[in-house]
Order: sequence, then C-alpha cells, then structure tokens
Amino acid sequence: MAKSKKKHCIVIGAGPAGMTLAVGLTNFGHKVTLIEKDAIGGDCTNTGCIPSKALLHAASLVGEAFSPTEALEYARNKAKALSEEEHKEFSEIKNLTIEQATAYIKDKSTVELTYGDGAKTALTGDLLIIAAGASPNKIDIAGVASDDLLTNETLFSLTSPPEKLAIVGAGPIGVEMATAFQKLGTQVVLFEYQNAVLPGQPPKISALVERSLTSLGVQVFTNYGVESYDKAKQSLKAGNNSDKNDVVVDHVEKILVATGRQPRTKKLGIDNLALETTKSGHIVVDANGRTSVDSVWAVGDISWLQGAPLPGTTSAAGALARRIVSKISLPYVPQSKLAPVPVAVFGSLEVASVGAFAAEPAEHILRIEVDMATTDRYYTDDVKDGFLLVDVEKLTGNIVAAALAGPRSAEVINLFSLAMAADISMYKIFKYVSTYPSYAQAVNKAADIFMSQNFNAVGSSAQAVAKAKLKKLFRFFR
Ligand SMILES: Cc1cc2nc3c(=O)[nH]c(=O)nc-3n(C[C@H](O)[C@H](O)[C@H](O)COP(=O)(O)OP(=O)(O)OC[C@H]3O[C@@H](n4cnc5c(N)ncnc54)[C@H](O)[C@@H]3O)c2cc1C
Repeated sequence: MAKSKKKHCIVIGAGPAGMTLAVGLTNFGHKVTLIEKDAIGGDCTNTGCIPSKALLHAASLVGEAFSPTEALEYARNKAKALSEEEHKEFSEIKNLTIEQATAYIKDKSTVELTYGDGAKTALTGDLLIIAAGASPNKIDIAGVASDDLLTNETLFSLTSPPEKLAIVGAGPIGVEMATAFQKLGTQVVLFEYQNAVLPGQPPKISALVERSLTSLGVQVFTNYGVESYDKAKQSLKAGNNSDKNDVVVDHVEKILVATGRQPRTKKLGIDNLALETTKSGHIVVDANGRTSVDSVWAVGDISWLQGAPLPGTTSAAGALARRIVSKISLPYVPQSKLAPVPVAVFGSLEVASVGAFAAEPAEHILRIEVDMATTDRYYTDDVKDGFLLVDVEKLTGNIVAAALAGPRSAEVINLFSLAMAADISMYKIFKYVSTYPSYAQAVNKAADIFMSQNFNAVGSSAQAVAKAKLKKLFRFFR
C-alpha cells in the first residue's frame, strides 16, 4: 500500500500565522492540532491590529457617534466578537483540533500540553510549526513597577480614557495610540529615544507625522528617554540624549510602553531543539519558514528571516505561513520569489511604505519625490500634508521602494506593492489609467516624473549596456 503523504502538523499559537497554517494545511488534507493558551486570533485580533484600528475609528467619531468611554468599549467589543467568531469558524474545520492549553516543546515531534486546570498530556506529530508570536518589551522606569505600566495587552481593558497618558516609544503602536487617545480627550505626551518619530521611515515622512501629532495636541519629545516616575506626584522625568535639559511632566496618570516586541521563545522549550536563534531570541528561518532543525518550522513574529527580515506584521506572518503550507503540501513545486511586504501606520496622517530606502540613492536609482499637496485630490479635499517617495531603477523602471504619507496611503501603497511583486515597471505603469481625481493617482504621478526625468538618462544607460554587450560579442568572434 502506498504510504500516505498526509501529515499530522502541530501548530503552536493561533494568531494570524497559526490560523493561516491551520486553514491551509487542512485544505490540503493534513491533520492539524492548533494549540492556543489564550484567545483565538492572537495579538492581532485581541490586543493588536483589530482593537487599535477599531479604537482609531471610534475615536475619530467622538462627539458624533461615541463618547470616549463608548469608543473604548467599541474597540473591546470588536476584538472580542471577532475572536469568538474565529473560534467558532475554526471549531468547524474538518481535520483541525483546537487545544486550549500551554505548549511546551519536548523534542521535535513531542509537545507537552498544560491545561487551565493543571492537567498535562503529551502530543506527538510529524511536523512542528512554532507560531507563538511576540510580547511587548518591558522597560525599567524607576519608581514604577513594571506591572503598573500599560502595554497593548492591558491598554484596551481601560474603561475610561486617562486625563494624561505618557507613551514611551513613537513607533507604529506609539503613534497610533497617541492619535487615538488624544482624540478621546486625553492629553498625550509622547517620548521617543531616537531623534524622530517613526524611526526608520524616511525623514520627511517622520517630520510630517510629528507635525500631524502636534497639531492634534500631542506633546512630542524626541531624543528623550523616560527615566523615573514619582507615583505620589504623578510626575514623569525624561532625560535628553544630547545637551538639552531634562523634562518633567506632571499629572501623568498612566504610562503606555510601546518600545518594541520580543519573541515568545522563553518557557517554550526551544532549547530542547537546539534551534538557531538570533541574539534577540527570534528563531532563524529561510524563505520557506524552515528552521535549522529538520521538520520544525517557525513563522510570524517569533521568526527571523535570514538576510531579509520581514516586518512584524500580520501580512508578513500570513505571507510566510502560506509559503510553509505550499512547501509542506507541494514540496517539489518551486516557490516564487518572496513578495515585498508593505507596512502602514494609521495615525491622523496615514503612512505606508514598501521596500527599503538607502539614505542616499545609488547611481542607478532615480529617487522621485512628490509633494502630494500639489495633486488634484489633495486640492479638492483641502489636504495640506502629503508626500510620496519612490526609488526606481533607471534602466529597468523597476520599483525598489515606495513610501507615502497622506490620506488612504495604506490603500494606495498596495499599487506599488503589486507592481513590485509582479515586476510591473514604471514604463508599464506609465500606460495605466487611474480614476480622476483620486489618491491612487500617486502612481501615475510617479510614472510621469520617472518618464520625464529619466528619458535621456535611460537612453544613455541603455546605450552603455548595448555597447558593453556588443563588445563582449565582438571579443567572442575574434
Ligand atoms: C497594538 C498593535 C497593533 C498592531 N497593528 C497591526 C496592523 O495594523 N497591521 C499589521 O499587519 N500588524 C499589526 N500588528 C502586528 C500583528 O499583531 C502581529 O504581527 C501579528 O499578530 C503576529 O502574528 P503571529 O501569529 O506571529 O503572533 P500572535 O498574533 O502573537 O499569536 C501568537 C499566539 O501564540 C500563543 N502562544 C504563545 N505561546 C504559546 C504557548 N506556549 N502555548 C500555546 N500558545 C501560545 C499566544 O497566546 C498568541 O495567541 C499590531 C500589533 C500590535 C501590538
């Protein structure tokens, strides 16, 4: 009798990565046991993407559809209802067993499960996939117990907004929550250790985001590290990184820490596998999610893609999970290249980017910069701030990176992302027609500029390439 190729896959973690795997693998007929210690949906559904975006939505309707308290309740309810819906949907999937338990890896085919009542059992499988995600970094602030600091895991349990909220860290979470709470009526004070908000974004975009926060009323301190908190006086002290004075902010009721995330590899038993990990504890994987140990895979926020780290986002987790499903189910089918993963920050000025920008563009790259306020949809909607940055290869017209700030950036960036994934060059985009007047015309604007600025340069680049090829040919026949 032919040996069945169907596997029993043990998946640890039911966040976006684990859920994508569970659906994909069972669709291919594999048996999956999905282990989750908390709520189905992981950080994204319960304490991340969904409550944060729901809160941003409700906060922008405070005074119209919601009171501040109702806005917080709306965000909490959206997360809870989605998790329940996902649980129900997943319970009905054939070949999928959900185990509500904490997983501990014994070896590459054995996982110990500990249930809420303390009971234990061991599970064996053919393949092990680790999708246990990441948890918020805790920082030391003298005078305050780390458990008293808010993180994304506790923030959405607040039933009323604090009078004054200090946020430590102006990355995506810090910027989004500063926007939401300021709109709820809280006075937000945002501290960032580096010299710009959204460090890592092109400087012009960071500057625009900072301006949008301050015009909303958020007090922004870049180059400051929060040091201590006097609980009795509710005063928070932050030290400056350069030679400016320290700052003391009074009446700080709550402190939200948004200073990055660490992989949930502790207490997971990964030492029993001798897996290759990074210094930060992330599990090193290849472009198909394979770890250094045969039949063990890792994906999502707990993993680190060697050479081209993926952002810690739901879309990146889902993309790698889908590749794992293909590799396990169709091992001999070659995988396509890994598509670039766009990221977005949904502050009052929406920002999105795809690909990486060098500080200065290389000689073969044309950097296109557009003040989006000069475009027609910005004009009709009276939007003053917007910026587009695109790096394009002069010769091929291929897009290397794009970044956008302004309304609907998280939607429009997907056009650049699609072009990058499908190798659609600026020469082709030049022929593409968008609706008028739309924010998506950013793409046409970039193509127009590329064609006008690059036309002569392309001619000389193409000539140079053709000459070099002819020379080579000539040498061959000589
Ligand atoms: C505030 C916030 C906003 C965000 N907004 C966005 C956004 O807008 N867009 C976006 O793309 N991304 C966003 N993210 C990031 C996104 O939430 C994560 O990248 C995504 O959830 C990662 O998915 P994952 O499956 O790897 O991990 P997780 O979602 O963290 O899921 C892992 C699961 O594993 C479980 N687990 C851990 N250890 C064990 C164990 N030992 N046994 C059993 N179960 C275990 C955990 O309980 C968890 O449910 C946001 C994150 C935060 C914090």
